[in-house]
Amino acid sequence: MADLDDPAAWRVAPLPPGGERLGAAQRHFDVVVIGGGPGGYIAAIRAAQLGFATACIDDWSTADGKPAPGGTCTNVGCIPSKALLQSSENYEQAGHAFAEHGIDAKGLSVDVARMLARKDKVVRQNNEGILYLFKKNKVTFFHGMGSFAGGAPGAWEIEITGASAAMLTAKNVIVATGSKPRALPGAPFDNKLILDNDGALAIASIPKRLGVVGAGVIGLEMGSVWRRLGSEVTILEALPAFLGAADEQLAKEAAKLFAKQGLAIELGVKITKVEVAKTVSVAYTDASEQSKSATFDKLIVAIGRVPHTAGLNAAKVGLSLDERGFVAVDDECRTNLAGVWAIGDVVRGPMLAHKAEDEGVAVAERIAGQHGHVDFNTVPWVIYTSPEIAWVGQTEQQLKAAGVAYRAGSFPFTANGRARAMGDTRGFVKFVADAKTDRILGMHAIGPMVSELIAEGVVAMEFGASSEDIARICHAHPSLSEAVREAALAVDKRTLNI
Ligand SMILES: Cc1cc2nc3c(=O)[nH]c(=O)nc-3n(C[C@H](O)[C@H](O)[C@H](O)COP(=O)(O)OP(=O)(O)OC[C@H]3O[C@@H](n4cnc5c(N)ncnc54)[C@H](O)[C@@H]3O)c2cc1C
Repeated sequence: MADLDDPAAWRVAPLPPGGERLGAAQRHFDVVVIGGGPGGYIAAIRAAQLGFATACIDDWSTADGKPAPGGTCTNVGCIPSKALLQSSENYEQAGHAFAEHGIDAKGLSVDVARMLARKDKVVRQNNEGILYLFKKNKVTFFHGMGSFAGGAPGAWEIEITGASAAMLTAKNVIVATGSKPRALPGAPFDNKLILDNDGALAIASIPKRLGVVGAGVIGLEMGSVWRRLGSEVTILEALPAFLGAADEQLAKEAAKLFAKQGLAIELGVKITKVEVAKTVSVAYTDASEQSKSATFDKLIVAIGRVPHTAGLNAAKVGLSLDERGFVAVDDECRTNLAGVWAIGDVVRGPMLAHKAEDEGVAVAERIAGQHGHVDFNTVPWVIYTSPEIAWVGQTEQQLKAAGVAYRAGSFPFTANGRARAMGDTRGFVKFVADAKTDRILGMHAIGPMVSELIAEGVVAMEFGASSEDIARICHAHPSLSEAVREAALAVDKRTLNI
């Protein structure tokens, strides 16, 4: 992979198989993907696998100008956050959990610079992995900004500016330009004191007082990283309920466990003013409408993300955006223009990397005349805090609101042998199943490694399994997955180990 750091390896993109030179710097492709995040790069690979002459354009660069495909997820999202979550969890374990195992870790210290350098290395490995995959699958990669220059169905024109300047024509275009962090009104990001996700993943020294606006996935994960490293973390959330999208039983347990860890979470907050000097002062009203203020050394703002369409020149070809700025698509990711598709964070639906990837695969397959399929009801949600939180399908409150008769069963990790041996018995696994048919309607879990365990619930739901199916399947002993089986048994009130 060493040659991928050599600009010559990517600047002069080879002609794709079946690609045809139309002019000095003009090339024609069956599929051009704009954006090389998890949606775009996976769409490009699948399209190439299906035999299409495929190009992928991505503008993300390393500090020294090299291409860094992988988008938000690889560069400033999923991957670096998980690297820092792991590093900070290792520190937390060494400081607080090792002693119980008879291991004394005295004189522990944190070298933030080394921790960040490791995170950067993990990111770079992923960037290089994607460049390697492009080569392996004969996807032509262009490093630069792609925008619509004109054209018509059958031959859309895409202009690339930047390192690999060129003009392409494409039969099919997949827009996968992702999203950007949303700023608080009146408090723009400076990534010194007011941080977006990029800044939150690169704080050079541990802030004493860290404020986080937004108790969603990103706010909780970033707050956890810096709390474990020693910051006093206060999370300010506008909504009155904690983790409103999660099953209530799960959200309640999470709130209890986070409070125990020392994460201060205030709900129902309305921020009235943010002032920046040497520190950040936040004035707000709390849930009982009392005026309050807090001063932080850094403030992370994680209040959601907005679609990223700047630079795309959508208006040039009349590509429709919806009222919130997302590229407007139908259920199958078709835009209003024939042969132009859009996927991932830039379109409606959950802003998750695996949703973007699956839409990318489905669109490539639809272009090939196949029947790609993405079911949002079986897209798993994971929060990589400690303990982890994961769910798929319907919550109890959704089922109640829809008037669906269901049965629920849960099983605590305190009664799981592997969890006891690991020394982490926090949380539980829970199933909800249709009262009549027993078909699994949702799985909700909080506890050790539930980010992995949730896959069993997703598979079960995709196969239309009943809770009895899971209950009858042999699970290894001792394993955390036995808690999944026991939760399925609990639906029928016949757990074996509690
Ligand atoms: C801190 C954080 C943690 C996260 N953790 C998780 C997680 O654990 N699991 C999960 O599923 N999701 C996670 N997400 C969300 C996830 O990152 C996104 O859902 C995912 O990256 C969306 O993929 P995408 O391909 O649609 O867009 P993106 O990843 O945003 O990629 C879009 C790419 O297109 C490029 N681009 C934009 N416009 C142009 C143009 N005109 N020309 C060329 N290139 C262009 C962008 O620079 C970028 O490289 C996290 C997000 C953040 C911020």
